[in-house]
Amino acid sequence: MIVAKRKPFDEITEMLQGYKKVLNVGCGTCVAVCLVGGEKEVSVLNAEIDMARKLADAPIQIDGYTVERQCDREYLALLDNKVDDYDAIMSMACGVGIQFLAERFPNKPVFPAVDTSGLAVNQAVGWYEERCRSCQKCVLGWTGGICPVTMCAKGLYNGPCGGTNKGNCEISPDQPCAWYMIYERLRDQDRLDHIKKIEAASDWRDQVPRTLVQPGYEKPETAKAE
Ligand code: SF4
Ligand code: SF4
Repeated sequence: MIVAKRKPFDEITEMLQGYKKVLNVGCGTCVAVCLVGGEKEVSVLNAEIDMARKLADAPIQIDGYTVERQCDREYLALLDNKVDDYDAIMSMACGVGIQFLAERFPNKPVFPAVDTSGLAVNQAVGWYEERCRSCQKCVLGWTGGICPVTMCAKGLYNGPCGGTNKGNCEISPDQPCAWYMIYERLRDQDRLDHIKKIEAASDWRDQVPRTLVQPGYEKPETAKAE
């Protein structure tokens, strides 16, 4: 899932300075699961902002509304008849949701309340570890299911580098070397020949913005907000 963390409170209040009526929009999917931007977190943040603004003698009306997914037009449409009532919108979704919201309501300032960290797994309650950087060139089939882009400090498709040291990465003795892990995994699967396979450079797949159109679908000439 996409994971994020809440921005420092001072940064949020600085962005909202001067605005008196704000709609804080939560997202009910990834950021809700990782405990940062769902309905509950919207309420908590709104209460904190309300209190801070009262104490600063600059009251604000801050309301909350959580949609199922901010990265989906169908759900953003639910906000169409609401946003006119507000001076600004705040979003607790990932960077994708925030941008989609800003695109749908271009006349309203849209402020992020969270910092998006990446694609991660849930290791324990409140502990998330990045596992994919959407590189568009997945090499997991050759690396024993261990992602070298996120797990290796240098993101090497071909490793290890000269810094590997008894299973650890040169950046820290607490950081396992991804390519050592890949070696061990492939060795245990009797597939060590894969580690010698040279992976070519990424052939411009990292150019931005990247798009994905599934087979059988066409990219519409212009994606219009409905
Ligand atoms: S190699 Fe890593 S970053 Fe690239 S798609 Fe696969 S899991 Fe994601
Ligand atoms: S020591 Fe291992 S994990 Fe660290 S940068 Fe080199 S190959 Fe990557």
